[in-house]
Amino acid sequence: MICNACKKRESTYYQRHSGLNLCDECFIGYVKKKVRRTLGKSIIKNNIKIGMGLSGGKDSLVMAYLLKEYYNPIPNSEIIGLIVDEGIEGFRKKGIGMTIDFCEEYNIPYYITTFEEYVGCTLDYIVERSKEKNITANPCSFCGVIRRKILNKMALNNNCNYLAIGHNLDDIAQGVMMNYIEGDIRKLAILGKSVDNPMFVKRLKPLKYIPEDEVKLFADIMGIKYHKEPCPYSSLSYRSEVSEILDNLENRHPGTKYSIISGFERLLTYLPVEKEMDICKYCGSPSASDICKACEFLKRLNII
Ligand code: SF4
Ligand code: ZN
Ligand code: ZN
Repeated sequence: MICNACKKRESTYYQRHSGLNLCDECFIGYVKKKVRRTLGKSIIKNNIKIGMGLSGGKDSLVMAYLLKEYYNPIPNSEIIGLIVDEGIEGFRKKGIGMTIDFCEEYNIPYYITTFEEYVGCTLDYIVERSKEKNITANPCSFCGVIRRKILNKMALNNNCNYLAIGHNLDDIAQGVMMNYIEGDIRKLAILGKSVDNPMFVKRLKPLKYIPEDEVKLFADIMGIKYHKEPCPYSSLSYRSEVSEILDNLENRHPGTKYSIISGFERLLTYLPVEKEMDICKYCGSPSASDICKACEFLKRLNII
């Protein structure tokens, strides 16, 4: 089959939701253009500093690869890597090693910090402690909350204008569905809108319109070396159940994940954004009440 875009080369990829057959070159060009359009001219410009949350997985490294390419020719722009070691034995160190190799290869400055430094213990310890205390909580729920806080702090300390996160289309569709199912409208609004508060660095999700399998294909074609093993806690997550349902739907009805996102973006215009933020009395982070979710959890475990 000949590529539908260049009409010259043999196609290597069939994009089910659009019905297009693309060759490697046109596929790469399509992703680069789409991500550039997602960011827009108001973000890809000079005098800007972007902190990127990097884990070593395909999403964060593809995002870093693209941002490096976009910002390289722009004067006075800077991108830096922000790496958080959660303390997951036998898993995270490998991802961090691959992130460091990537940053050194592409000449991206990076900063590393750990859960231990910020909350005084590793994620593994928190999981053990919650088992001992019979607190049934999914590791991902507090890992995500603590990591977000740390990344925000790192971006603030480094005077970044934006914090870029490598969430792909699948991640966002899953997040939207999880909040719908749980009926959590507040979290749904937070997922899609930036809180206008100087203590929060505005977030960017450059890959939000690129499905996970296309991020992987991009990484493979471009020879980006990334950490392939899944986190040992990921299979326990509610997200993985929702992901399975969405994958089945997408298989039978191509385009489902895109339509979840576009419906969500339309809905966002009707959802209010919280303007007033409190300060957590334990960690000093901006929070919806006087104690943030992470500290509330750590308190229940007698860690703080
Ligand atoms: Fe943390 Fe869950 Fe991601 Fe593992 S899968 S790094 S526990 S959020
Ligand atoms: Zn082509
Ligand atoms: Zn707190």
